[in-house]
Amino acid sequence: MASLMFTVSTSPLLHPSIRNNAFMPRRCIGHIRLHTTPSIRGCTLSIRSSSSPDAGFTCIDGKKEGKSISDEIKIEVSRMDASIHVVPGLAVILVGDREDSASYVRNKKKACESAGIKSVDVCLPEDSSEEEVLKYVLSFNNDPTIHGILVQLPLPSHLNEHNILKAINPKKDVDGFHPQNMGLLAMRGREPDFVPCTPKGCIELLHRYNVEIEGKRAVVIGRSNIVGMPVAHLLQNEDATVTTIHSKTKNPEEITREADILIAAAGQPNMVRGSWIKPGAVVIDVGINHIDDLNAPRGRRVVGDVCYEEACKVASAITPVPGGVGPMTIAMLLSNTLTSAKRIHEFE
Ligand code: NAP
Repeated sequence: MASLMFTVSTSPLLHPSIRNNAFMPRRCIGHIRLHTTPSIRGCTLSIRSSSSPDAGFTCIDGKKEGKSISDEIKIEVSRMDASIHVVPGLAVILVGDREDSASYVRNKKKACESAGIKSVDVCLPEDSSEEEVLKYVLSFNNDPTIHGILVQLPLPSHLNEHNILKAINPKKDVDGFHPQNMGLLAMRGREPDFVPCTPKGCIELLHRYNVEIEGKRAVVIGRSNIVGMPVAHLLQNEDATVTTIHSKTKNPEEITREADILIAAAGQPNMVRGSWIKPGAVVIDVGINHIDDLNAPRGRRVVGDVCYEEACKVASAITPVPGGVGPMTIAMLLSNTLTSAKRIHEFE
């Protein structure tokens, strides 16, 4: 079945480039065109990004892009409701009482509300059995008002994550973590029903800022199922030459220094220093790390995997933390939920 895609149409004269080892952000004005295609490559929901051509450095504003995607989704949700009286529905299952997970779920709920998507949350106690969790998954699989199902990770250690993710109907797997969707993402010439939200958000930011991917050297730090592995596949699908770094990689900074595009998803605060970055590279910082800071209001603050202050002196563009990839993750979840509802109801 077809999926909703928004694509950018821009003048070739306005196309971006990475020239002389430097990312040259260009002002780009495009228009949204809604169409259906199973291609991931065409899936930018996008319109425009702009930055001063004079500025040597671009802060990639995920908050602004995420908001504009949510606004577009809200319009589509209203159109769908008005035309066929269907509102996309997202079910979120949270097990346990991890404060960070509860906060992510609250943010997702808020985002759904503002886009007009129905959200249903199930909060289960830490000691829930696998059968209890599966009972909810199966009931949402069979619920025609639910188009997307998300099980908040990580699950408590006594639960088998694989069994639970596998039980989600792949057609409602808006997180893209079902092995069928993961497998299809990894196969050449095949398309999953859904691409995981954070990796999709990273690529969407590159598209929105007109970063050329084809033929570029991309380095991904991290190889998790949630971020590193899928983002590496997405970059490769877009014809980048991709290297993955993990905890056993020797001399990672020598590898990162070759990257035109560097995606950091290691969960290691400020690991990537300015000296690790090739001049003019584009850096996407996925990391969310809480560190102590006596000067911060609550004695703690959030930093990424990249030392922003150093990186912005070397890179041509970088996502801040917070305000970079995080808001895009949520926007992609809304997008996947809308896509699912449209597919299920064959609404174009
Ligand atoms: P994860 O499951 O812990 O995976 C971390 C990956 O980084 C692993 O592959 C690990 O290598 C690698 N790694 C760890 N330390 C390293 C080091 N010193 N050098 C090189 N590689 C290293 O984490 P995750 O779920 O992928 O998340 C990564 C970060 O992204 C976290 O900070 C998380 O909070 C953040 N995140 C953000 C969003 C968002 O929306 N912005 C969403 C999801 C995650 P091994 O495989 O060898 O262990």
